[in-house]
Amino acid sequence: MDLGIRGRKAIVCAASKGLGRACAMSLARDGVDLVITARTKEALEATAEEIRRATGVKVTAVPGDIATEEGRKAALAACPAPDILVNNAGGPPRGDFREWGRDDWVRAIDANMLAPIFMIKAVVDGMVERGFGRIVNITSASVKSPIPELGMSNGARAGLTGFVAGIARQVAQHNVTINNLLPGPFLTDRLRAGAIEAARQSNRAVDEIVAERAKGSPAGRVGNPEEFGEACAFLCAASSGFIVGQNLLLDGGAFNSSMG
Ligand code: NAP
Repeated sequence: MDLGIRGRKAIVCAASKGLGRACAMSLARDGVDLVITARTKEALEATAEEIRRATGVKVTAVPGDIATEEGRKAALAACPAPDILVNNAGGPPRGDFREWGRDDWVRAIDANMLAPIFMIKAVVDGMVERGFGRIVNITSASVKSPIPELGMSNGARAGLTGFVAGIARQVAQHNVTINNLLPGPFLTDRLRAGAIEAARQSNRAVDEIVAERAKGSPAGRVGNPEEFGEACAFLCAASSGFIVGQNLLLDGGAFNSSMG
């Protein structure tokens, strides 16, 4: 399927690994030139090279922390007028809310709420002027179905979701769409790290923990990041201009509901 976005330009944040990387790879396969970011330069440059080799598109690696003003400025300097923006950053740690202080919360809100809001602020008016824009925010299934020990993720991402619900409806008439993708369990380094920690605490094998996560979904497995990337590219398609302000859950059916 030709998504009609060949030659478009995208910024994909937090894209050296995992879900961000998968979104970048899928967009590149559809002919989109990329600016990708992550904090660790070597891993980012290795990913940029892999994407170039696999797809032939132009990929610029911009190392930096997207949760900071400086990191965002660097990404935007490399691509001041993107047609596509994928917002992403690492998720906050698990824990007990009684142990989190103000600094912990500010870190979570900076990364998972304010970074995407400031990136949207920087690019959305240009998209409106040019009559095309696709913005996808990677949030979490925890927005719909909160995970108790991920309280900072539940909270910060819910704030972003509320903001997006309003702004998406202000720009849709200009063929600028803003939607959220909500991952359930996908087999990335983040999921592996969580499984390793759970295995250590319960004295079980890592594979057993991952298999347990898989059982929680009617699909009977965890997600493959490539599937996530393809969903992102679909939301960025030229023909997706009528998909506005949606929260698309990719969880293998784990959220039990007759609708949505
Ligand atoms: P991952 O495999 O750990 O990859 C995270 C990527 O983001 C890496 O490239 C990392 O590179 C980069 N990154 C992290 N913080 C950054 C920052 N502040 N600025 C720039 N780059 C940053 O994680 P993932 O599984 O793909 O998760 C992506 C997002 O989806 C996270 O917010 C996560 O909480 C959420 N999520 C994931 C799942 C899942 O099952 N995988 C489920 C629900 C929600 P550097 O470390 O070098 O910066």
